[in-house]
Amino acid sequence: MASETPSYVVIGAGVHGLSTALHLARELRARNLGDGRDIVVLDKTDVAAGASGIACGVIRNNYFQPAMRELMEHSVSVWESDPKAFSYHSVGYIQAAPEVMHEGVAKIYEEQQQIGYPSILVEGTEDCSAYMRDIFFDWQAQGITCVLHEQRGGYANNVASMSGLAAKARAEGVEIRAGVTVTGFQMQGSSVSAVETSQGTVPCDQVVVAVGPWVRDLWAMLDLPDRIPVKGGEGQVQEKDMWTYWSLQEGTLEVDPGSLMDNRGDMPPVIHVDTDAPLHDDEGSLVTEQLWGIYYKPDFNFGGVQGGTTPYVVERPAAEVAVDPYGPASPDFVVGKEFAHMWTAALAHCHKRFVGKGHLFSKEPSGGIGCFTPDSFPVFDVFGDNAYVIADSNHGYKMIGVGALVAKELLGEQQSLLEPFRFARYEVGRLHPTSTSPFPWS
Ligand SMILES: Cc1cc2nc3c(=O)[nH]c(=O)nc-3n(C[C@H](O)[C@H](O)[C@H](O)COP(=O)(O)OP(=O)(O)OC[C@H]3O[C@@H](n4cnc5c(N)ncnc54)[C@H](O)[C@@H]3O)c2cc1C
Repeated sequence: MASETPSYVVIGAGVHGLSTALHLARELRARNLGDGRDIVVLDKTDVAAGASGIACGVIRNNYFQPAMRELMEHSVSVWESDPKAFSYHSVGYIQAAPEVMHEGVAKIYEEQQQIGYPSILVEGTEDCSAYMRDIFFDWQAQGITCVLHEQRGGYANNVASMSGLAAKARAEGVEIRAGVTVTGFQMQGSSVSAVETSQGTVPCDQVVVAVGPWVRDLWAMLDLPDRIPVKGGEGQVQEKDMWTYWSLQEGTLEVDPGSLMDNRGDMPPVIHVDTDAPLHDDEGSLVTEQLWGIYYKPDFNFGGVQGGTTPYVVERPAAEVAVDPYGPASPDFVVGKEFAHMWTAALAHCHKRFVGKGHLFSKEPSGGIGCFTPDSFPVFDVFGDNAYVIADSNHGYKMIGVGALVAKELLGEQQSLLEPFRFARYEVGRLHPTSTSPFPWS
């Protein structure tokens, strides 16, 4: 039964904190061990104040790493469990890729078939063009030799989905305290016995740290190292920074979102294009000859065609990066004119309908910074006796199911889907394979 002090303190009311709280409440109830009243979520601002509230919201399975794919398959099932509450649009997802990525994409397809994740692989320049033109009459992207069309996944609306998660957690009895900043931990041996906050001390039996790009700060409060040994593929060990910030460049083309419906008038899949075809702008000037990539979708929430391109590293030591104010307001988040130029040229490269539309790029800044681990993949692990850290390395809006798995681990049931993401993998060199994609998260 619910005790007077919460047994579980969850820090962060983003996708991971809220999903953990919701699923933990359900697990406690199902096992007659208590209920949501044993859980409190603390957030220094409020629900969706962090990355989960500004994410583009793309939900896909397209990962080169088998462990990521299996985890995403699980998360997609959670999105599908209540599309209305999660504001989830199951429109599917397309990756169009050039020859340099062909083998990797074909491998993803094969492995998706093995885990029963429905997708279609199209190969060869002409067949890819025909497939894409069957969806968009004006498709004109060059250099595409394979298309992977995932039939599950799609996107969800960022703030609406977090409100839906929060409502479900509250309905289970979970308390979400806004405006409470965690400032430190009280330890008894290697256990956190209480969480120190701007509003006093909260005793706890277990703590879950789910603070997105602020993980650097909570990691330091737990006395964990800011540099760690990482064993590479050939057995060599290198000291690396635990955290690196990347700037995620996103924006919106202010056209009627309805203008990017498919040939049948329906919402199209989310589109991700990588290509090594030279990219020119409307005036014919060369933008880049390097491998480039963009993603986009019509989005009635953002009010246009919304998406982004490859992020870039924030060239400052992680300790000095200003996470607050979060989002486009962060002084360390810089989206230059180059982004708008490149992204709108790339949209026009893919669709004739966007030629000459670059001036409609929204002046409203969007995007934000993400905190990445040494191999750019998540860390889900317990530190000390009872501090569970969910550090998703900026993969995580789509990972709504991770909280369901973490909830089971909090109750002592180890989850094989989370095993490949333990912290010890760096020391022993059990790293995830890397792809040829220009994105650090593919
Ligand atoms: C521009 C952008 C676009 C993205 N697009 C996608 C996408 O399309 N698909 C995808 O899967 N992922 C995407 N991501 C990544 C994804 O948004 C994040 O990985 C995910 O939302 C992180 O969730 P979280 O719950 O860990 O953290 P957050 O959502 O950041 O929540 C952390 C919460 O912790 C609170 N907090 C921080 N410090 C403290 C403290 N000391 N005390 C109390 N509370 C604290 C914050 O206020 C915040 O509310 C995107 C990220 C960015 C920046």
